[in-house]
Amino acid sequence: MKIIGNNKSAIQKGGGWLKRLFSSTEQASTRAECLVIPRSEHPISRRQMSRNAVKVLNRIDQGGYSSFLVGGGVRDLMLEREPKDFDVATNATPDEVKSLFRNCRLIGRRFRLAHVHFGREIIEVATFRSGQESVGEESVQSEQGMILRDNQYGTLEEDAWRRDFTINALYYNIADFSVVDFTGGVEDLHKGQIRMIGDSLQRYQEDPVRMLRAVRFAVKLGFSIEKSTEKPIFELAALLEQIPQARLYEEFLKMFQSGQALETFERLRHYGLFRFLFPMTDRMLDQEEGFPHNFLLRALENTDQRVAQGKPITPAFLIAALLWEDVRTRAETSEDKHPETGKRLPENVRLHRAGQDVLRLQRKSLSMPKRFAIMAQEIWELQPRFQRRNGRQPHRFMEHPRFRAAYDFLLLRAEVGESDTELAQWWTDFQKVNVSERDGMVSEAPGAEKTKKRRRRRRRPQQKSD
Ligand code: ATP
Ligand code: MG
Repeated sequence: MKIIGNNKSAIQKGGGWLKRLFSSTEQASTRAECLVIPRSEHPISRRQMSRNAVKVLNRIDQGGYSSFLVGGGVRDLMLEREPKDFDVATNATPDEVKSLFRNCRLIGRRFRLAHVHFGREIIEVATFRSGQESVGEESVQSEQGMILRDNQYGTLEEDAWRRDFTINALYYNIADFSVVDFTGGVEDLHKGQIRMIGDSLQRYQEDPVRMLRAVRFAVKLGFSIEKSTEKPIFELAALLEQIPQARLYEEFLKMFQSGQALETFERLRHYGLFRFLFPMTDRMLDQEEGFPHNFLLRALENTDQRVAQGKPITPAFLIAALLWEDVRTRAETSEDKHPETGKRLPENVRLHRAGQDVLRLQRKSLSMPKRFAIMAQEIWELQPRFQRRNGRQPHRFMEHPRFRAAYDFLLLRAEVGESDTELAQWWTDFQKVNVSERDGMVSEAPGAEKTKKRRRRRRRPQQKSD
């Protein structure tokens, strides 16, 4: 191991430390050697970690094992960003980890991981793995679509080389507070690039989801994707077809709910990855200019704004937006007739059927939990209901559990000119005013007269029969 940098003045706030580290040393670019950055030369302090993560690191260390913070936690702290979660890597086996904690559960069959529970926070502890194929093993695919050569315990160094990108393979050593870098991750953080560890082509073939992860980290960190890491993506995108639909859904959530959905979408389209997540949407975007594209961009932008404002978001809304154009055109062109009356089915029923068809096709690529599919379907089906502004209908509609989501959807449609802006404004006002003003709005709404007449006509025969 090579220890670099004695330059105390290198510690600075605000990211300047990386620049200084690299201007003060040449060693960083030599891949054969391990870089150990002492506490004085990097910005990570235990104070920035969750207290529980520090507890876990210390307890394992005191148990006589080595204990490192690893992955996104180290990467984000090195960039002086707030990590999403904290993962720990150790040479202790899962059983040994379990014996150190009362609040620990082992999960997974093939790769056993220890989860240490602190209320809602879980610290994941993984034993070092080698990434080597066990002798005699064929290349088997896991239920996750990954090629299994990953199931042997290994050393710290082996654990680093089996990870995906260099910036994700940094280790913070609780024993001396140094950062350990085998793969050149610190240099790549400095360069602002995502670089695959090892041969990109082979590593994407092993696990095609790494293509999505490359895009996700590039967008999240504002990094570029290094050339040899980027190039194979264009050719290998179709490998995503092998990935279980539920795993793609998990990746979709990480990519689209992080506050940068719009940029992620553009990048996924650029690399030809998007069509393996949402094939119908992709085809429709290629076929039609204008509206569908604008609508989608607006929906993604809106999601990003909500995330930035700390407002809640639901995957159902995103899914409803992504698939809307297909649902809408199918419903519009459907000539399905009522079996008894022979009349064309009403709009909400056509939307219901179209929604079911589209969701069934969508599930072949990326499938969402049932409750979100149902919610997306409701958002679509409720759209025609905004037209009905008579009597008690608007009041009742507002009580509907999906009213708010459907209304937000209507606003987006109006913004891009797919729905009447007057109608959207009416509903905006209707929610703002008090109850008596609402009655006034209803009686003045377009179509209100017609209903009154219809009602009178309906009552007359009843009165006659009395
Ligand atoms: P995030 O901030 O999204 O949590 P992360 O880097 O922590 O980013 P995780 O999915 O939590 O990502 O994974 C933790 C670590 O496990 C990664 O940093 C990486 O080292 C390793 N890893 C995860 N997925 C893969 C994969 N498909 N192939 C190789 N290594 C992986
Ligand atoms: Mg993580």
